[in-house]
Amino acid sequence: MKIIKTANKIASELLNKKKIGFIPTMGCLHEGHVSLIRKSKKKKLLTVVSIFVNPLQFNNKKDFKKYPKTILNDLKICKKNKVDYVYLPQKKEIYPEKKIIIKNKIHFFKKYMEGKFRAGHFEGVIEVMKRLLKHVKTNYLFLGKKDYQQLIIIKKYLESINSKIIVVPCDTIRDKNGTALSSRNKLLDQKSLNIAGRIINFLKSNKNKIIKSKNNLLYLNKIIEFGAKKIDYLTAFNLEQLKKTNKPSVNTRVFLAYYLNGVRLIDNF
Ligand code: AMP
Repeated sequence: MKIIKTANKIASELLNKKKIGFIPTMGCLHEGHVSLIRKSKKKKLLTVVSIFVNPLQFNNKKDFKKYPKTILNDLKICKKNKVDYVYLPQKKEIYPEKKIIIKNKIHFFKKYMEGKFRAGHFEGVIEVMKRLLKHVKTNYLFLGKKDYQQLIIIKKYLESINSKIIVVPCDTIRDKNGTALSSRNKLLDQKSLNIAGRIINFLKSNKNKIIKSKNNLLYLNKIIEFGAKKIDYLTAFNLEQLKKTNKPSVNTRVFLAYYLNGVRLIDNF
């Protein structure tokens, strides 16, 4: 496994390499990330993991500062899973300019879920992806459904520039208690994780009722009763039509964002 810290070096290492699989991450790796790595390895791709906490996608400075960092353990996990390259850039490799001007305008999703509650988040996501993909010229890009809106936005961006990169959507890996694995879970104690598990299991078992209900109040109250402090949204969304819905279908998922002990968690099912 090679650890590469500069854009030039990773680009030159990958030059002329054919079957590359890329897994961009913000580190604090867990089994969710590992499932993406395994998919890439299973396809026999030269597997590149990047670890970079992108300041541009945080709409809250405090949130950025407290984002968990476990780099030594991350490298261990990568090595154990036979990652070929870890790209570990510092901020100046990704954003060498003094003043970063983001030109991406993301119109769809602006009104919905993460787009609505985290101003500038997706613009920051696209900006970092653009730059990472310039450094890591990949054939395949592995993205988790855990961040479903992000997955769709990146896919649409790649389509819009006629990119040949193949996006591989990966299922959400969950803890035994039902919570989606997330780096942010590191910021929670066991009691809070148990609450998160109860919330998600309750919601999952009421999925169709939530989708059909015109007014989510009953479910929002229940989430608060379980111990959540604040809820940003609980929304049924059709992924094909890209709009809210009250009709259950294969394309309809429920999206959720809420706060537990000061930590913001998102999930969809
Ligand atoms: P992050 O480090 O949170 O930016 O995530 C890096 C990639 O891993 C993204 O494509 C995520 O959607 C994906 N990911 C994060 N958590 C999970 C999970 N529990 N299961 C599957 N994929 C995940």
